[in-house]
Amino acid sequence: MRVAMISEHASPLAALGGVDAGGQNTHVAALAAELAGQGHDVRVYTRRDDPDTPERVAVRGFEVVHVPAGPPSVLPKDDLLPHMGAFAEWMAADWRATGLPDVAHAHFWMSGLAAVTAGRVCGVPVVQTYHALGTVKRRHQGAADTSPAHRTAYERQLGRVVDRVIVQCRDEEHELASMGVPRERMSLVPSGVDGELFRPDGPAAPRGERPRILTVGRLVERKGYAELIRALAAVPDAELVIAGGPPRDRLMDDPRARRLQELARAAGVAGRVRLTGAIAPAEMPRWYRSADVLAATPWYEPFGLTPLEAMACGVPVVATAVGGLTDTVVDRVTGELVPPRDPAALAVALRRLLGDDVRRISYGAAALDRARSVYGWPTVASRIADVYASVARVREAVA
Ligand code: UDP
Repeated sequence: MRVAMISEHASPLAALGGVDAGGQNTHVAALAAELAGQGHDVRVYTRRDDPDTPERVAVRGFEVVHVPAGPPSVLPKDDLLPHMGAFAEWMAADWRATGLPDVAHAHFWMSGLAAVTAGRVCGVPVVQTYHALGTVKRRHQGAADTSPAHRTAYERQLGRVVDRVIVQCRDEEHELASMGVPRERMSLVPSGVDGELFRPDGPAAPRGERPRILTVGRLVERKGYAELIRALAAVPDAELVIAGGPPRDRLMDDPRARRLQELARAAGVAGRVRLTGAIAPAEMPRWYRSADVLAATPWYEPFGLTPLEAMACGVPVVATAVGGLTDTVVDRVTGELVPPRDPAALAVALRRLLGDDVRRISYGAAALDRARSVYGWPTVASRIADVYASVARVREAVA
């Protein structure tokens, strides 16, 4: 199949290049590479945010196309909506010039708007993956949410007009259903994990004698690092390694990193908390392997790749029971689930796990098995390709 993926703000090149990238970049890069490996012709359309990037870049068997839409500079994603019309127009012209795709797969709601606009004029079916929903963000962030007005209305409408919605977890399915998107329009296919890169065998980052709790991600408040630091005060001996954020040499310029350090001092655990700064994706497996447990303690999480990456390295996970984490982490089988924003419950789970070798080893083995058998990219990408084939077939039958 010819597949056009649209990821307006999250370029797969960022994930492959090792710069500060989030889960969507990683997801799009891995899915595109896997589909290309399975013989599909894949192009990823992303907004051009640097005047010096070439229009087309070939990488890992697929092509990244940089779409001129708005200024060729980095813009916050919440400022991109006015440029989605130009994005759609350019992409439709490119499809006509280079051959229409069989399916367009949009990642994030704004990509969905561009895909639906271009898809309508070119007769191309559209599959939508949201990655995050405005309703959830608003519920947790309130006035701090800077999403464009009407985001939720657009998301609801998209769910009704696209040919198929791919939801990544049951929580997202429920959320969309309560927004009025019919369940029969949805297919549940989770994100995947690269089992070649994330595996238990291989080198580990150096560590000392202390039990190691690792947590990984951007240094944003909703990831729950503050609760983790507070919990650490009730987990004797253990160290907490926080991986992510700006590069190491600029880490302490970041007010969020400084705040976490202050918090650690106030909680009396400064000597047991270490911030590493950004870790290159290729280095991540070494960090997971060095840990006794991965803690993923967000207030909310649309999917959450880091627990899955840890599980694929055979590491048990203590996670908050939110969003995608309630699907990936099986409570008392591959790890433990605790309520969000509850340092006391977190401390109990961490103490129990760090104090019980048998439990940890058994969770780790079950975690590895689950990551490999359910979330391997070859399986996940084939399931997504089946969704593409079904919408392309329906279109053909109608035409
Ligand atoms: N990551 C990384 N280096 C870091 C921190 C994170 O490569 O220093 C990667 C991590 O391995 C994962 C992604 O960034 O693949 C984070 O995805 P997740 O879904 O957990 O969170 P998001 O950033 O999308 O909220």
